[in-house]
Amino acid sequence: MQQKKQNEGKQKVCPVSSKCGGCRWIHKSYQEQLEAKSIFFRKLMEPYCRPEPMIAMEKPTHYRNKVHAVFGEDRRHNVISGIYEEKSHRIVPVDSCLIENQKADEIIVSIRGLLKSFKIRPYNEDTGFGLLRHVLVRVGHATGQIMVVLVLSSPVLPSKNNFVRALLKLHPEITTIVLNVNDRDTSMILGDRERTIYGKGYIEDRLCGKTFRISPGSFYQVNPVQTEKLYTKAMEYACLTGRERVVDAYCGTGTIGMIAADHAGEVIGVELNRDAVRDAVKGARQNGIRNISFYRNDAGDFLLEMAEQGEGLDVLLMDPPRSGSSEVFLNAAARIAPKRIVYISCNPETLVRDLRLLTKKNYRAAKAVAVDMFPFTDSVEAVVQLLR
Ligand code: SAH
Repeated sequence: MQQKKQNEGKQKVCPVSSKCGGCRWIHKSYQEQLEAKSIFFRKLMEPYCRPEPMIAMEKPTHYRNKVHAVFGEDRRHNVISGIYEEKSHRIVPVDSCLIENQKADEIIVSIRGLLKSFKIRPYNEDTGFGLLRHVLVRVGHATGQIMVVLVLSSPVLPSKNNFVRALLKLHPEITTIVLNVNDRDTSMILGDRERTIYGKGYIEDRLCGKTFRISPGSFYQVNPVQTEKLYTKAMEYACLTGRERVVDAYCGTGTIGMIAADHAGEVIGVELNRDAVRDAVKGARQNGIRNISFYRNDAGDFLLEMAEQGEGLDVLLMDPPRSGSSEVFLNAAARIAPKRIVYISCNPETLVRDLRLLTKKNYRAAKAVAVDMFPFTDSVEAVVQLLR
């Protein structure tokens, strides 16, 4: 009985978990994972404030809406698809995964099955021969739209139309197929040339009542169920009344800014990635949001420019990548001195580094919460409210 209780919520051990490095916490029950993350986050935030209870996921499996498979051959020249073994370029075959969207996994297996009859060889990194390097599948959780990106080593997919037809016959739920050409010797998945061979070339998803457009290369949170909770918390911490001037820094496709726009006077989004900015501009138009504008720029340079121009700002929303923000950005933020800063972070280490700086510059962390965006991994996502 005791044993049974202890095993509740534990997953059957995945055959490749030791090589993949994705689900590091596959051996822990979900309850144990939550406790470990809560304790870790509470300790980390100790110098600043006591966090609210962690926001957990109701069904913590198959949450990833973006699935990537690398293609290659085994020793007997059978086509395989899966993931790179941790810290290497050996391919570990994967057909299904505990945290990935199941439909996306099925599509990848189907593509692998089609290759032979279309005489498409997977790319070989050592010889440089072969065509198909990667497949990326992105799924719109609320819309059901599905994008398949075939990453090729050269621009021509033989019998392209027949291939599309065959794939759609197996998976009529696919709404768009994009060819991406990556002919460089690189560990990046996507190259910079792209051609849509079926559908619109992007998918849409809905979060917090807004529709977002997602291109192959745009950042979009991978766990949509938890993202909605994360953004709701960020809005709560922003305390908007409808009049504020807001900056959404590191805005990606403009998700947070667009959700904030309904409750603010004016929103300004800033983001480095060109595709994401394009998606943001089109998304704002589609959602009929008029009080938002987007700039493609380094967030630090942009904020410094605002500080030098003496621009006013009421609330700063920031959601930097894992590497955190920059000193230029944080110093400029302190100079502009918004009443509130809402810091969304996917890396607690850089979060506390940046909090150390901000709390030396007239800000104090008033509220914080961790949101479990990545069950079965040790990653912790957090939102912190800083007041001037
Ligand atoms: N807020 C968005 C995206 C967060 S991810 C969302 O919730 O979906 C972090 C984003 O920061 C990415 O889109 C990345 O392209 C962008 N980024 C990284 N470095 C940047 C920089 N120096 N200046 C502006 N944006 C940057």
